[in-house]
Amino acid sequence: MSTIDFRGLVLKEQPAGESGKRILVLRENGGQVWMTVRGAKNIRGKVMAACQSFCFSRFWVFEGRGFWTVTRAELIESFYGLREELDRLAYGSYLLSLVAQTAVEGEMADQQTLPLLLQTLAVLEKDLLLPRLTAMIFTIKYLQMSGFLASSLGCVCCGAQETMWFSLAAGGFLCASCEAKWPDRVAVPGAVVEAFRFVERRQGSRIFGFRLSEEAEQALTELLRRILWARVGEVKALDFALRCSHPPGQKVEEKDYDHT
Ligand SMILES: [Zn+2]
Repeated sequence: MSTIDFRGLVLKEQPAGESGKRILVLRENGGQVWMTVRGAKNIRGKVMAACQSFCFSRFWVFEGRGFWTVTRAELIESFYGLREELDRLAYGSYLLSLVAQTAVEGEMADQQTLPLLLQTLAVLEKDLLLPRLTAMIFTIKYLQMSGFLASSLGCVCCGAQETMWFSLAAGGFLCASCEAKWPDRVAVPGAVVEAFRFVERRQGSRIFGFRLSEEAEQALTELLRRILWARVGEVKALDFALRCSHPPGQKVEEKDYDHT
């Protein structure tokens, strides 16, 4: 039994006991961990405020018999501005869900995930870019970093530079000579291929340095939904966010994708 302290981002919270809760935290140096926050009077207020979803905080944790209990917590960044607009909040929730759903609890996580997530939440909070595009850029980088996506810099079969197709079965982009071998391939607009390459070639906040036409952004979103469905499964928070960000009357296409 020991007390440790670390910094982390709260991805999820669930009620536990009479006034306590459990929180899932992405740690700075070591994956995700569920922790208990007791509802006792001496721990309310400041500690509870640092243990809500979206909060990046420093936690002091008592570890005993495999259970982690928060004894003290100090808020570093709350990303409170996300709560001002429903679509920003919805896309922010999608980012947290995607990471919670794909990273294995307790496992040493890729240490790039937390910086990427914090950077993306900051872009979303400050409204520097359209929320949907911000979330899609995060998705591309996250899938590339996590090994869910092959390099987009060339054809996955022959390495040719010019690619205009994407196949889930092949695991990436395809050139005109190779596309016919993959029945599940779909045509992809050039601007979407370029978006994947732009993000792959850059690190940090520079990944957010491009814009797309409405049409290309729609195609990018549709392709990423297909990839997520096949590689990660359903991410309900994304469908909710897409419904929030569409003007009334414009319906999000409902499609069932095969798990290939
Ligand atoms: Zn090829």
